[in-house]
Amino acid sequence: MEEKKKGGISVETEHIFPIIKKWLYSEKEIFLREIVSNASDAVTKLRRLASLGKYESHGTPYRIDVSFSKSLKTLTVTDNGIGMTEEELERYICNMALSGALEFIEKYEGEKETEGSGIIGHFGLGFYSSFMVADTVEVITASYEGTPAVHFTCSEDGSYEIEGGVEHARGTSVIMHINEDSEEYLDEAKLRDILEKYCAFMPVEIYLTDEDKEEETPKEGEEKKEPTPINDVTPLWQKKAADITDEEYNDFYTKVFREYNEPLFHIHLNADYPLCFKGILYFPKLKENYESLEGKVKLFYNQVFVAENIKEVLPEYLLMLRGVLDCPELPLNVSRSYLQNSSYVAKLSRYIAKKVADKLAKMCKNEREKYEGLWKDVKTFAEYASVCERSFYDGAKDGLLLTLSDGKKLTVSEAVETIGEKKTLYYTTDAVLQAQYISLYTARDIKVFVSDTLLDERFFQMLEQYEGVKFVRVDAGTDALREGGEDAESDERLASLFTAIEKDGKPLTVKQERFVDASVPAVLTVSEESRRMEEMMRMYAPDMPAMPSEVTLILNLASPIVTGLAEGRFGDKSEQVAKYIYSLALLSHRSLSADEMKAFLSDSYEILSGLL
Ligand code: ADP
Repeated sequence: MEEKKKGGISVETEHIFPIIKKWLYSEKEIFLREIVSNASDAVTKLRRLASLGKYESHGTPYRIDVSFSKSLKTLTVTDNGIGMTEEELERYICNMALSGALEFIEKYEGEKETEGSGIIGHFGLGFYSSFMVADTVEVITASYEGTPAVHFTCSEDGSYEIEGGVEHARGTSVIMHINEDSEEYLDEAKLRDILEKYCAFMPVEIYLTDEDKEEETPKEGEEKKEPTPINDVTPLWQKKAADITDEEYNDFYTKVFREYNEPLFHIHLNADYPLCFKGILYFPKLKENYESLEGKVKLFYNQVFVAENIKEVLPEYLLMLRGVLDCPELPLNVSRSYLQNSSYVAKLSRYIAKKVADKLAKMCKNEREKYEGLWKDVKTFAEYASVCERSFYDGAKDGLLLTLSDGKKLTVSEAVETIGEKKTLYYTTDAVLQAQYISLYTARDIKVFVSDTLLDERFFQMLEQYEGVKFVRVDAGTDALREGGEDAESDERLASLFTAIEKDGKPLTVKQERFVDASVPAVLTVSEESRRMEEMMRMYAPDMPAMPSEVTLILNLASPIVTGLAEGRFGDKSEQVAKYIYSLALLSHRSLSADEMKAFLSDSYEILSGLL
């Protein structure tokens, strides 16, 4: 081409460059990702042609070079990909209407108005995003077809020139003449930072060089240092799970999240129909501090980093997960409002939740011992997720463990199986305070489950709903402790001795039963319903005066102390003994108040002095 061609970038929207500049100010750095992605696409296209036998590559390795010169104020991105013919250059670059930038701007013009709507889609801005940092951009390109190289120069007012007669190897160089406000992009550390953020896993090797620095000549005897690419061209998620060792998974985790605590486990996702995406999710070891609860999921589009912490792609209850997701099916322009309303994203989120639930069930089935070891860390999240979402519960059920008072663990299904027809599960909320009740149950081979957090209780209530079981706290009744369950005949003398003891100004409610176990003279019970009601009131209306729950003293007629009392064998000490039995029952039921404690101790001393 002899003559220079001149023109103006054809766009429908006027003043497009000022818009690009102003608009994306806060995310200026993504221009580099856009230009490097174009370079990477150009190589991918040529690779495809080569694999189809339409191009002979002659073995030169494909690469992208990002080089900068502080003295010349230029930043250049060079690839040895497919290149462009003059016609293609005019079609794709000069005609901005075909470029991603215009589409992007048209689509999101309205959205920018609402503060905080935040365009997180960093896609599709393309070539013209370079004008965020440059006042003139040159493109020198030579098509793989062997046509002569062309040189395009575009200024920020939209005018351009195309000329021939230039030399360029196959591929494209984009030379950005960095404007005054953007000189920070002529700094090695800054550029490396941006490339590591957005391009760490791009599929073509990327090298960064400072053009102003002379190449170091190796000292004698030293080997020349080979430059290393910025990126890892085959990230772990692109490999087959079967070919990856645990160590590799953990190293990847450390590298990507800069986290040195090993994750508890990972899930390698590889879906191709109906959703198509790949990824690795890690279950982090939760630390005590709240901060570490926040997970991180990095979203990629064909190995190009898009954004992280996108709340929409994961259900809220899974937000503490960390990982990478590569979704080539997400549309080019992604905005927060798109993600919130997209059925694709909703499906993605459901799919991931299902995979996580399945993973728990599978680990529990195949590696029970190891899984039980992890349970402490997994529990909170698994219970919370189950409470939030029925389908999560259904999927994870065989991996949800319940802890017994002896430390053993049962899955929900196993627990439900063990109770058979009765459908009643006994539990404790305080293994120390309720120790006596627990041993009354375990002595009869009845399992006692441990609930030591509010979430556990919530989880138990959920199990009641989904599994048709009933959770009864060990101090809620004595049905399971009686022989054959029949009522014993009440003894008058006992009744009057104990009802004489007042509680909150009212006579004590007393019942007489015969337990299998003879060692415990009496226990106090509060029915499950009234206790739950009281707890709920306390939680939702803490200022309301507490309604004392109905406490019943159950006397055990199998106990020799109790029968001794009935037979009058304690003589004039009967009242003192009755009161002491009540105090002991109270002591093993709840913590005593200061006055109760004082009274209990002085009673004990009195009894001891009676032994003199
Ligand atoms: P988008 O990448 O969204 O299509 P761009 O404005 O970045 O929009 O680029 C428009 C077109 O220009 C690309 O689709 C591609 O055909 C061509 N192009 C851009 N950069 C290169 C490059 N480095 N090598 C070859 N072709 C390129």
